[in-house]
Amino acid sequence: MRGDYHVHSSYCDGKDTPTDMARRAWELGMESLGFSGHSFLPFSSSWCMSPERTKAYIREVLMLKEEYRGRMPVFLGLEQDLLSGPVPEGLDYAIGSVHFVADGTGYGPVDHCREESLRLLRETFGGDRDAFAEEYFGQMCRLPSLGAQIVGHFDLLTRYDEDGPALFDPDSFRYRKAALTAVDVLAEAGMIFEINAGAMVRGRRTVPYPDSRWLVRVREKGGRILLSGDCHSAATLGDGVRLAAEYALYCGFRETWVPVGEGNLDPRPLENE
Ligand SMILES: [Zn+2]
Ligand SMILES: [Zn+2]
Repeated sequence: MRGDYHVHSSYCDGKDTPTDMARRAWELGMESLGFSGHSFLPFSSSWCMSPERTKAYIREVLMLKEEYRGRMPVFLGLEQDLLSGPVPEGLDYAIGSVHFVADGTGYGPVDHCREESLRLLRETFGGDRDAFAEEYFGQMCRLPSLGAQIVGHFDLLTRYDEDGPALFDPDSFRYRKAALTAVDVLAEAGMIFEINAGAMVRGRRTVPYPDSRWLVRVREKGGRILLSGDCHSAATLGDGVRLAAEYALYCGFRETWVPVGEGNLDPRPLENE
């Protein structure tokens, strides 16, 4: 079974310890497993790892790397928020993500809850949803500066679009232009786009990120993908990866990329899912 490399543990907002997650991955017969704890943010966020917790997280993952050596490669990664700055050295890989937009006085989260997204839309963007999208995708265009190999949940801002009247219109001219520009910038920088089925597995959405409109463009640009479940518990490990693989095939991809250590990723065929 394929591995998952977008995996959170109890060191950030996940349910189980890395040790429990690795045991589950081994039981499932995963080819490898990568941890991607949330990077520290300079402002308080309960779902991120403090500097102390980051150290403990690294210790535990490195211990697991030794424990499973020769049986199931375990990789040390981070989900590095754009606001955390460049990726630290010594990781096997990093997922670069944008979780915030500037709101005038600080930063507002785009994936906290529908009410918060509505508040940002109203107070920061004066109800102009395309302006919100332009700000978000403008931040995405800055991801190459982090030094991360992978682009996290490309259109995360649409997270609450299925919970009621859609907050965004991906078919509008300005939204399309902002999203397509971001795809081009990130693909040209050589970044790998994750197909993230996490919200789908948790029953919050009916499609993975990114929307197929943008994935088709990724393919046209010769861009690469990585399958992810954005997993937060041992019980659901692997579920998102299967869904993401199905979606990738449907969007025309024939290979996916997996971390192999020390910043490198290798291709794997997608045919036999
Ligand atoms: Zn994220
Ligand atoms: Zn995540």
